[in-house]
Amino acid sequence: MNNSNNKISQYFVRNYLNKAILKRIFLKPQTRTSLIEYFGVRPNTISEHINELLEEEKIIQSDPIKTGGRDLVTLKINNNHSYYAGVVIDGEKIKGVTMGLAGELVYKYSAINPQPSGNKEFVNNIIDVVSHLIDNTQDNKICSLCFAGEHFSTKDNTYHSEYIDNYEMVDFISYFKKLMKLKFKLQSGIYSKTMAERWFGKGKGIENFAFFNFGTGVSVGIVNKNILNQGAYQIGGQLGHTRKFSDKKCRCGRIGCLETVASVWAVKDFLRNNPDILSEQMTKKIDILPLANIIDSYLNSAIIEQNRKSILHLMGMAEYWAIAIRNIIDILAPSKIIIGGTMLRAKNIILPIIENEIRSKLFPFEDKDILIEVSELGEYNGAIGGAAFLLEEIYNIPEPEYFFDLI
Ligand SMILES: [Zn+2]
Repeated sequence: MNNSNNKISQYFVRNYLNKAILKRIFLKPQTRTSLIEYFGVRPNTISEHINELLEEEKIIQSDPIKTGGRDLVTLKINNNHSYYAGVVIDGEKIKGVTMGLAGELVYKYSAINPQPSGNKEFVNNIIDVVSHLIDNTQDNKICSLCFAGEHFSTKDNTYHSEYIDNYEMVDFISYFKKLMKLKFKLQSGIYSKTMAERWFGKGKGIENFAFFNFGTGVSVGIVNKNILNQGAYQIGGQLGHTRKFSDKKCRCGRIGCLETVASVWAVKDFLRNNPDILSEQMTKKIDILPLANIIDSYLNSAIIEQNRKSILHLMGMAEYWAIAIRNIIDILAPSKIIIGGTMLRAKNIILPIIENEIRSKLFPFEDKDILIEVSELGEYNGAIGGAAFLLEEIYNIPEPEYFFDLI
C-alpha cells in the first residue's frame, strides 16, 4: 500500500496515528522518512509522535549511520518497555511465557501436572508458573496476563476442567487479583494456539487458515479474513466432539464423538486391549498415568519400536482426523491448514494420510490448492498465543486505508 498520494483524515491523525506508527515499526523497523512516505503526513507530525514514543521508551533508535546525505536512524520497538505474560493450562502441563512489546520471548517456564489432579495441586501449579514469570522478569514489568485453557467461563471468571476433581470451578483469577495489580484476560486454549500461529507461526500473513490441534483431544481454530472466529459464546472449535464416528461413549457424555476414536482416550482403549505394548503392570495403572506419558509411550512404540499394531492404530486415527479436516475445508475453504499438537511427533505416519485425503481434490476443490503445514512453534504455543492476545490489543487498530480521503 503506497499512500503518498492519499491524505489521511484529521480524525485518524488525532486518534490513531500514534498507534499506527507503533504498529508500523513493530511490523518492520522504520526510518522517519519511510514513515513520512507511508502515512503521507507532514514531517513535523511524524517527528512529534516519534519523540513521544521515544520519551515513553516504547521505541528505541539506532546510532546514526552516515549516508552522505542525512544521517540514517532506524526506529525499533523496545522489547524491554513492558512485558505481557501468557499462561496455558491443560491437563498435562501448565506453561507460561513472558513476552516484550516487540514480541520477543523474555522468559518461559512450565510445571507438570500430576494426574488425575487434585484441585489444590492443580491451582498450586498455576500459581507456581505465574510466580516464576513474575520473579524472573525484572522491575515488575509484567503489566498484563492472559490465561488460556480448556474451559473458561467468561461469565464468572472461573476455570472448569475435568482434570479437577468433580469439575469443581476454580476461581484462581480472584486469587491473583488479590495478590497483584495485573490485568487478567481469559481465552480458550485452541484460540491461543491459533493466535500464536497467526502472529508468530505458519499463519503469519495468511488471511484464511485453520489450525488443528491433535494433542490429548482434538480442536480447531479458524481465522477468516484475518479475524479469529470466536463465535457468539467463545466456545467454538470443539472438533473433537463432532459425532457419528463410533458408538462409544465420550468423556463429554455424548455418544460417538471423534475423540472416542482419535485422541488420547482412544489410545487408552487401544493400550488396554494390547497390554503387551506398555507392559501388563503399566497397563493396570493406566488410569493414574499422566496423559502426556501415555501419549509418549504410545508414540514411542510406533515411531521408535516400530510396533506394527501401534502404527496401524495411529494410521487409523489419522484417517479420522483427515475426515474431520476435510469437513472443515469443505465448509470454510481456507487457503492453508496448519496442524500441531503432541501427536504430530509422528508426523511421518500421520501427514501422508491427511495429505492423501486433502489432495484428492474432491468437488468443488478440483482446481484449488490448499497448503498443509505442520506447526513449528513447539509446546509453548498456547502460552505464546495468550501473550499474542495481549499484544493484539496494543497493535490492533482500524486499518489506515479506512481513513484515507475522508476529508
Ligand atoms: Zn464428546
